[in-house]
Parts: sequence; structure tokens; C-alpha cells
Amino acid sequence: MKQSNNRTIEQSNNENLEKIRHSLSHIMAQAVGDIFKDVKFGIGPTIEDGFYYDFELPRPLTDKDLPEIEKRMKQLLTQKIEFKKSEVKPNEARIRSVRQPYKLELIGELAKEKEPISYYTSGSFDDLCGGPHVNNTKEIPKDSFKLTRIAGAYWRGKEKNPQLQRIYGMAFETKRELENRLKMLEEAKNRDHRKLGQELELFMIDEEVGAGLILWLPKGAILRREMENFVLEEYQRRGYQLVITPHIASQKLFSKSGHLDFYKDGMYSPMDIDGENYYVKPMNCPFHIKIYQQASHSYRELPIRYTELGTVYRYEKSGVLHGLLRVRGLTQDDAHIICTEEQLTDELVGVIDLTKYILETFGFKKFKVILSVRGKDNKKNYLGSDQEWKLAEEGLIKALKAGKWDYQVEEGEAVFYGPKIDIKVLDVMGREWQISTIQLDFNLPKRFNMNYIHKNGNKKKPFMLHRALLGSLERFTGILIEHYGGAFPTWLSPIQIYIIPVGKAHFKFCEELGGKLKAENIRAEVDLNRETVGYKIRKSEKMKVPYMLVIGDKEMKSKSLNVRIRGQKAVNPVRKSGALDPTSLSKKRGKLYSSQPPQEAGLSNGVKKMTQKAFVDRIKKEIDNRR
Ligand SMILES: [Zn+2]
Ligand SMILES: [Zn+2]
Repeated sequence: MKQSNNRTIEQSNNENLEKIRHSLSHIMAQAVGDIFKDVKFGIGPTIEDGFYYDFELPRPLTDKDLPEIEKRMKQLLTQKIEFKKSEVKPNEARIRSVRQPYKLELIGELAKEKEPISYYTSGSFDDLCGGPHVNNTKEIPKDSFKLTRIAGAYWRGKEKNPQLQRIYGMAFETKRELENRLKMLEEAKNRDHRKLGQELELFMIDEEVGAGLILWLPKGAILRREMENFVLEEYQRRGYQLVITPHIASQKLFSKSGHLDFYKDGMYSPMDIDGENYYVKPMNCPFHIKIYQQASHSYRELPIRYTELGTVYRYEKSGVLHGLLRVRGLTQDDAHIICTEEQLTDELVGVIDLTKYILETFGFKKFKVILSVRGKDNKKNYLGSDQEWKLAEEGLIKALKAGKWDYQVEEGEAVFYGPKIDIKVLDVMGREWQISTIQLDFNLPKRFNMNYIHKNGNKKKPFMLHRALLGSLERFTGILIEHYGGAFPTWLSPIQIYIIPVGKAHFKFCEELGGKLKAENIRAEVDLNRETVGYKIRKSEKMKVPYMLVIGDKEMKSKSLNVRIRGQKAVNPVRKSGALDPTSLSKKRGKLYSSQPPQEAGLSNGVKKMTQKAFVDRIKKEIDNRR
């Protein structure tokens, strides 16, 4: 099945905000013109979150210039400058922009296409512009914009053109919105899955292996295997049968499936095997159909649900590759459901219900459901008869209603072979991610001449559903890393308990404790490195391990454990806690904690006293409940 890889962000439809942003781009250009002489102006449109303007300047800008430009902009805003529009003839425009080569180029094009040419004048600044703008700068709040960065930009995006300097700004209607957005961006930076993926030792990409190809490191492989086990067990519990198929296939298969006609751009060049072309698979569907067709099927056997963690390879331009989110090799939690017409609605209800369960287990609570149907006017772009489409679209709607899901309909967004349901989630930062796709297919059953024996003894064409609930495991993991900020729930954490011996004398005890926990299927790691306790604690915190045990003399004697719980305020393990024996620490203790002033805290803060049994029970419960 085809997967949408787009990361969507809510677009602002706010007209007033658009005017504010666009007007600020003019004000910024005016400020830049006031500060630098002989500025050549490019263009200054609005963008998501704000605006930019391109300039040719006598010298390169640095970040230090931004506050000065911002200050000048604020001065201009207090001057209650009016924006006045005037339409002019090309000749007049050429005179007004006589010193502005980039504007002259635009005027030339507008004149050639006989488009109207207009200017907006705000105080001493005059700009070729179609608008719209605010009427007066007093409509622009002074405290809800910020110049954010400088970048190089070729005039009109073409490399052979001169390179201009672009200043980006962010703008909102209120100071609070700006602050929230800035905070969000900062948080998003901290949660960036590429940064966390490295810090948590989850995955890597190596140039010699190739762009867009993921190497899962040991800890990442644990995370991925937990995800895989969970979904596969759940799918099998719900009547799916696991299949496994090869990574390559003869061109005969992909000719028959239509991939070589409709999906060739997404496929890699063939390899020659014994004089025949083979391709790495971009999708799993044709393989599952072959499995279905190895025997004839009666209506009694349907529905048949095949599932596979199928690794596929798809061409993506190098420029769009992005960590785990956009890759060239990906593994789908794919499945194909083959059923009769009468079973269609129930199957869909089942898939939607399963989707909700799976996504909720991964900590997503808010969903958006999109039903993509055929466009009314361009039926010729779609395969299948009106009757088939009607049946399929009605089936999907019936299923959505049965599951009491709110949904939006998007016309003309269906795939060429059938309508589909896309499920998006909102992450903790309120960002929208398209995750699950459920697609109905008329095409492949026809192409492969699939059938089953109907009650009346005749052969009938079954319906086929493609569905991937996590989409690609790579991309889903990327989203999950950002959603949790790397602090995975216990069941997904590559290390569940980090055990830190205070000194050499405690190594053996720790190893035995680690062994006991491992015997309970708990992922415990004992840190026997010759580093200081403080360093190891910070290491564990950086790895976002849910539980940490620091073991000293006292713990060895005591029947209970002092369990440090992630996310609760960390305390200094030494000092007055009495939990550790200070004499066993290195003499460099003072230095050890120099970056982090010791807190005179007791056990109350973030450390919980538990018996070994209570601790093990707690963790096992969290793992079982997938929390
Ligand atoms: Zn498929
Ligand atoms: Zn403008």
C-alpha cells in the first residue's frame, strides 16, 4: 500500500494575521533600508508563522544585526504609518523602481502578462506589491513579532541568480501566541528525534551505507522489537495470519500488479538475475496475493487476513530525506484483508477499532479521521465502476459511523484504485501526524484475477483492504521519540532499570541483583565502569531510564531498595540521605558534584523505598499493562 509521508501542520486561515505578517515584512524592509544605504529589495511574502524579505546588501548580515533592525521596526510601528495602495501603468512603475533591478524584473513580467501593477506606500517606503496590508501600523502589535534568523537565498530560487540575504521573522496577533510558539519550537528542538536518537543510542545513518537507510543500534532494536511484538501479537489475536515474503521479485510480478506502470518513480533500478530483471519491492501487496492464490478458497474461509512486517524500498529525493521520518528503506506493519462484499463493513469496523487500540497504547489520545473519496468531476482518473465506488465509499462511511468516529471527508483525495481512511494523531506538542491508512482496492483483485467460491458455487471477486496501522516502523519510531521526548514508558524503554554500584565493594551485589531482575524478564543494566557515581547518575538520566538504583553499603544490608524514579526531582545520593556510604566514594567527591551543587535532600524527593518484591511487581505490572 502507498503511504503518505507528509507531516502536516495546521495552517492559519486568519486574514488579519496574514495582513499583519505581510505588513511587517514591509516594515522590516523599510527598517533595513533606513539602516543600510543602497539596499536592493527582493521579495517579502508571508510564510507559516511569519514572514521574510530578501535583500541585496553592502555587507553580510550577522545575528547581531537583528536586534537593531527589530528596534528600528518598533520605532516605525509607533509612528502610525498608513499603508496606501496605488495602481500604476508599467512605465510609471519603472520610474518608481528605477534603482531596484529585482523589482524591475518583476515589473517586466507583470507588464508582459498584462497583470495589474500596484504599489503600497508606507511612510518613506514604497513597494511593488499586490497586498493586502493593514491600514495603519497601529494595527500591528509591537510585542508579538520577532526576527528569528538570517539565510542565504538565490533570487527566485535559481542558483545562477545572485544570492540575496533573507531575514526571517515570526509574527502573531498576541505576545502570548508568539511566546508559546517560540517555546514550542525550542521544545521541538529538544525533542528532535535525530538528536535524541543519537543521545539514546537508538539508530544511526552512515554515508557509506547510504542516505535514508537506517541502522538500528542495540537499544533501538530493543525498542523496535517491543513495538513489533506488541502489534504482531495483537494482530494474531484478532485473526491475522503472519506471512513472510522476500525483498525482491521478478519484473513479471510488478508488471502484473501495475507497479511498473503506476509506481515506477518510487522503485529502484532492476538487477539482472539469470537474464531476468528483478526489483526490490516497493510494496508487499502482490506477494500476499500470491499466497492467497496458492489454493482456491471458499466463502467459508473468508475473511483472510495476512499480515507481515514487510520491508520495502522506495525512492525519495535526497533533499527530502529526514532522519527516521523520511527514509528509503522502511518496514511497514502491513496487512491485506481479503473478504466478501457482505463482510466489508465488519472488517472495516474491526480495523478501525484495532487502530484506535494500537495508537492509544502508544500514548496517542487525540485522533483525526479523514475519509478520502473520489472526486466528482474527474472519474476518469480512477479505476473501477460507479457501482464499486458507491459500495466502497458507503462501506467506509458505515464503518466510521458504527465506530462512532468523527471524520472529515476529502473529495478527490482517494487513491486511483479505491477510497481510503487516513488516521492522524496529535502528539503532546499539538502537532498533527498522519499515521494509519486503510485503503480499499478494486484494482489488484482484478489484475490478479483473484476469486473465491461463492455460496452458489460460482467464482466471485473478493474485496481487498490494505492497511498499515503504524505506517512505517521507522517513521513511527521517529514520531514516538518526539512524542515521548525520549522518555519511553517502561515497556518500551531499552533499559528499564539502571543499577549503579557506589564502589567496587558493591559490584558483586549489583551483578546478582541485575541477574535476578533479568531472570524476571526485566531489562536491567549494571554499570560497572570506573566512573564516579555522579557521572553514572547523569548518564542514566540522560538515557531517560525509568528506574535507577544506587547501591552502597546500606542498600546491601537493607531489605529494601531506594528506587529513583525518572521524571521526579533527582536528589544527591550521598550527603544526608544516609543511603550511601560516603567513605566509599572517591576522594574527588568535591569535584564530582561541582557542576551540580549538592542538595541536602532526604529520601522524600524522587526516591521511593520499596522491597525488592514490590519493586519487581511494580515494573512487571507496568510492562504487562504497556505503561
Ligand atoms: Zn498493500
Ligand atoms: Zn506587500
